Amino acid sequence: MAKRGITENLKLPKVYFLFFVVFFSCASLILVNYGTIRILSANRAYVNGESHYSKGQKDAVRHLTTYLYTKDEEQWISFLEEISVPKGDGLARMALIKNQSDDLVKQGLRAGRNKEEDLDDIIWLYKNFNKVSFFTKAMKEWEAGDSSIDELIQIGNEIHQKLAVSDLDAEEKQAYLLQIGDISETLTENGRNFSNALTEGSGKIKQYLVFANIFFILVIISAVSLYFSVMLKKLLESAKEIELKNKNLVLANRELDSFVYSASHDLRSPITSLKGLIEIAKEEKDPNQVRHYFGLMNQSLTMQDQFINDIIDYSRNKRKERVLEIVNFDKIVNDILLQHNYLSEAKAIQIKKNVEIDEMHTDGLRLKIILNNLVSNAIKYSDKDKNDKFIEIAAHHEDSFFKIEVKDNGIGIKKDIQAKIFEMFFGTDHNLGSGLGLYITKQAVENLKGTITVASEVKQGSTFTVIIPKYHET
Ligand code: ADP
Repeated sequence: MAKRGITENLKLPKVYFLFFVVFFSCASLILVNYGTIRILSANRAYVNGESHYSKGQKDAVRHLTTYLYTKDEEQWISFLEEISVPKGDGLARMALIKNQSDDLVKQGLRAGRNKEEDLDDIIWLYKNFNKVSFFTKAMKEWEAGDSSIDELIQIGNEIHQKLAVSDLDAEEKQAYLLQIGDISETLTENGRNFSNALTEGSGKIKQYLVFANIFFILVIISAVSLYFSVMLKKLLESAKEIELKNKNLVLANRELDSFVYSASHDLRSPITSLKGLIEIAKEEKDPNQVRHYFGLMNQSLTMQDQFINDIIDYSRNKRKERVLEIVNFDKIVNDILLQHNYLSEAKAIQIKKNVEIDEMHTDGLRLKIILNNLVSNAIKYSDKDKNDKFIEIAAHHEDSFFKIEVKDNGIGIKKDIQAKIFEMFFGTDHNLGSGLGLYITKQAVENLKGTITVASEVKQGSTFTVIIPKYHET
């Protein structure tokens, strides 16, 4: 019988799948968090860049306005210096759109006074997210801002050219001032929209991040809980299995104790009686009496022989695996009857056979042990007072079972001990054997997944019925 061990019981694919889910979720969690941190940091770089862009543009407007009214060349130079900040950003934007080299983009960003450590993040965000709605919106604002900057440069150049030739009258100055003011306002609006789009985007990203974190953490918790419940179930199952094995061990130990105790006693008693008989025979002069003592010695030796045979059967039954084969039932019965023929009491018993079974698919060794013990008992416990002593061996098919009966008209068994006769070393006052025979028989029957029962009346006889399933799982 193949009892499964703990490791065999574990459904490994299921456990591996859970490990994979946990591993996958952890990896996704790390990736999602890393990606989000990078997006947020790049977003912040864009907002920083925008503040330099705005400051540059505002300072440029201030210097241009002062230049318009003072004609101070230094103010013109400062205008050019400040306007180069948003202009640089604009060049970087164009390089990004045209997919030009990162160096060119960085050159523009540096001119836009962006921090060196932010440059890679700015490029990365554009390359990966330029199709995402919030980012597209921000880029549109940037583009509009750049065209206002171009307009501002154009106006600046116009003013610079005119002032180089002559002075401007108050009306012209006022008109330029209004134009510059309009552009500045538009640029402020663009800058605000740009920052808002990015802030809105980062808010959404943070939300997605929270959802993704909650989702993956829930997946991990569920997978780990499932893993522990599977392991706990297996542990409980194996604890039960161990408990059962322990119980069986305790039983086997008890059985062994009682076996050793009884066997040592039973093995010695024929030897003791044999020794006694030899002592008496040595002194005896009468040959008839000596012959009688020899007869008694023979009986003792036969008992000893039977006892040793029983122990061999017991050991074989315990240790040998069940071997299923096709056996000829009638041949086994005939062999067993032949073996018992030499017994003096067997000669006076009529043997009847009512065998319907030809071949059986079963364990031959165990079938022999069963039939041998039942036939041997039927002979041993025959009723000496009866003249019509008989033993009937019947075997029939019964649906999915074989039904085997060994019936005798022997001395019978008292009702109150019928349940005990299958116990190890059970014996009565008229016990003629080791007390192991029926115990071994029952074990052999159970090994074949069958049952054995007895029906008996004192002085009438006994019928032992064995039921064995026809087909065994291999
Ligand atoms: P033993 O080897 O002593 O015969 P068994 O286990 O074979 O031991 O039988 C147990 C007891 O059951 C016997 O001592 C006997 O009292 C009783 N018994 C078994 N078979 C028969 C039978 N066919 N007729 C009457 N008594 C029986």
